[in-house]
This record gives sequence, structure tokens and C-alpha cells, in this order.
Amino acid sequence: MAFSFTKGYEDYAKFPMHYLRITQSYNSGNHIDHWKETNYKDYPIDIAGMDGGRDYLYAPVDMKITALNGIGNPNISNKIFLESVNPVKTPAFGTTKIFMTAVHFEDSDIAKFGLKVGKIIKAGEKICLEGQETANANHIHFTCGIGSSTKSIQNNRGKWVTKGTCKKPEEIFYIDKNFTMIENNAGLNFKNLPVLKENDKEESNNNKFLNALNKITASAKDIISKKNKS
Ligand SMILES: [Zn+2]
Repeated sequence: MAFSFTKGYEDYAKFPMHYLRITQSYNSGNHIDHWKETNYKDYPIDIAGMDGGRDYLYAPVDMKITALNGIGNPNISNKIFLESVNPVKTPAFGTTKIFMTAVHFEDSDIAKFGLKVGKIIKAGEKICLEGQETANANHIHFTCGIGSSTKSIQNNRGKWVTKGTCKKPEEIFYIDKNFTMIENNAGLNFKNLPVLKENDKEESNNNKFLNALNKITASAKDIISKKNKS
């Protein structure tokens, strides 16, 4: 398995761990109260990496930290909020800004990874590790969505959920088969990255050409209008 994402997919949202091993999907156990018939909902999955140890969470695209909760407080779970720096391609919502959150990393990760609000983590770089802060086993309680999120809110079933336009993980992230091994998808239907056709590359070259042309046209108009005024 490669250590970095496949080249050419920089603007695609990709699942951000080397192993997709879901120990509890949003469809089971106490996660159901996070979304079913609730006023505020998210769709959390617990991801446990390769085994009982601590695997890394990576930035799926360039991500910015927007909030950190619970650090140093043993009664509140450690939670990190990140949003994409740019709009990115998703399986279900086209090109849009995305956010993701991760819970249960250890307090020591703050210093180890230099986590602070405003930090930008480039695609493929490490964010933090799985942990068991306020949990019984190493894992990451993971939520995601479109737009941005900076806080949690308690719903009418008593669950603290991520506030924002939360979506199911398989709607936000593709699987990069060169980066992620699927161990247990808990029945969630993740899509693989699409095969890029030569047409797509040509189209993006055409777009570059058109953008350059538009800029030239705009500055030409600008010069003409200034000339007419003088
Ligand atoms: Zn969980």
C-alpha cells in the first residue's frame, strides 16, 4: 500500500485513514440516536484502524483546523473540527467545501502534532492518532458534512452531535484503493475514486485556456474604458 494518495486526485475528498475498519456504523448501537428522528443529527462512524493500536488520521485534502474541544478536560471528549481549504469533489454532492471531526485522540497529540485553530494540514499529512480518551478502546469517532462546523450540540435524544450540515461518510469520501484498505465497511457503500479519462484532462486544459482568455479580455476592457474616460 502506498503511503500517499494517488496523484491526479488532489481535488477529490478521499477517506483519510489507511484502514477502513468500522467497529460501529451510524446504523448500529448508540449511534442511531445521533440521527434517527432527531432535531440535530450527524452520522458518526467509529473507525479503529488496522488493529487495537493507534493508527493515524490524515488530511484527505488541504484542511484547516476550525475548533478544538475538550482538551485537558477528562469529562469532555477531545474533538477536532477541520474544514477543507478549497471546494473538493465528493461522491454525492458534487464540488463543495467539506468538514470533518474526530473524537477520542489523546491530550498529548496536541503538542505532538502542533494542533491549534487555524493550522493548515496539507493533503496526505498526519492530523492526529486514534486514542481512547473518554473511550474503552483506541478508535476515532468520526463525523463529516458539507460547509463548515465548529461546535457540537445536544439533540432531543440526549446525544452530543456535530452542528452543521452533516452527511454520511460514504457521501463525502471516495476510497483511494492505493491508500486505503477496506477491512470492514459495516455495509456502507463507499465509492472508489473514478477513473480519470483523457477527456477530463483535456477539459481542464481547455478551462485553463478559457480562464486565461477571460482575464486578458477583462484587462483589455479595463484599458479601453480608462482610455475613453481620459
Ligand atoms: Zn462513536
